[in-house]
Amino acid sequence: MEPLVDSWGRRIRSVRVSVTDKCNFRCTYCMPAEGLEWLRRDEILSFEEIQRLVEVLARMGVDEVRLTGGEPLVRRELPELVRMLAATPGVEDLSLTTNGILLERFAGPLVDAGLRRINVSLDSLSHTRFAEITRRDALAGVLRGLAEAERHPELRPIKVNCVAIRGFTEDEVPALAELARRKPYVVRFIEFMPLDADERWDADQVLTGGEIREIVERRWPLEEFPAKPSSTARRFRFADGAGELGFVNPVSEPFCSTCDRIRLTADGKLRTCLFSQREWDLMEPLRAGASDDELAAALRHAVAHKELKHRINDPGFVRASRSMSQIGG
Ligand code: SAM
Repeated sequence: MEPLVDSWGRRIRSVRVSVTDKCNFRCTYCMPAEGLEWLRRDEILSFEEIQRLVEVLARMGVDEVRLTGGEPLVRRELPELVRMLAATPGVEDLSLTTNGILLERFAGPLVDAGLRRINVSLDSLSHTRFAEITRRDALAGVLRGLAEAERHPELRPIKVNCVAIRGFTEDEVPALAELARRKPYVVRFIEFMPLDADERWDADQVLTGGEIREIVERRWPLEEFPAKPSSTARRFRFADGAGELGFVNPVSEPFCSTCDRIRLTADGKLRTCLFSQREWDLMEPLRAGASDDELAAALRHAVAHKELKHRINDPGFVRASRSMSQIGG
């Protein structure tokens, strides 16, 4: 099949697949304390349906697949989906984003199923502050999950993602930077985006990558080194060679012009931007018996409408139609 290219000439190579909208954490920057109304089981794509869409996408050159959620490890039998996707022709890079709390149990089965890359979200190394931001007293379990991931050398790199929020993250930076020096983890700071269900996001709360770099460099000088052109992160190594940090700066340094991503929600909607106002339903044609060519045409139609850029920094910015846990971050 012809490659998947949007109307601005960007070639789509990466899909984030949300396998569930449910989560066992309630991170303040993402979900409300009481949770959200979950989708019913029949409203969620089956593993076979996900695999079918990924297969069609892979035939159009989408070779990178990241599983996310909600919390992907709360979806039953997730390693089975990993096995199916790892065996799908054209899928070259299969990864998972998780909060890590179930990783102690699942790292082994995921590696056996063919997972080779993992991102673990971790916003603080202090038990009380971790509980404050995630609304769960679960740091010890996440660290055990990371330790278990580390026991599997096939699973590399291990990336640790921290959402950077002004008034909270400044104090966490030294310990997280030190984690990157002490452990084989790439620690990445991600700017807070207006995707929280509580709609409390404010531009003033965005602690930028540049500001975090400054905090780190007070103690440890950093050196930038080149990242892949499609990478969302700027990569830095410690000048003394002791580890790597990344900065994902969607607010202060938008990278829309090289965006090669689309997203598939748990209920089978295609989103062409985190901040899309519009979604494209694929579940209906899938369940109505669409052929691969018909699915490919639906995907191309959606991608032709991919937004030029997000407008977080523009006056009159309108929030996305759903929050992060419902989209799949
Ligand atoms: N539950 C999994 C996890 O914790 O990694 C996967 C889903 S979670 C929505 C994916 C990523 O989105 C996490 O790293 C999370 O910290 C990030 N995230 C959630 N809300 C965000 C926001 N408002 N701004 C920036 N990143 C956010």
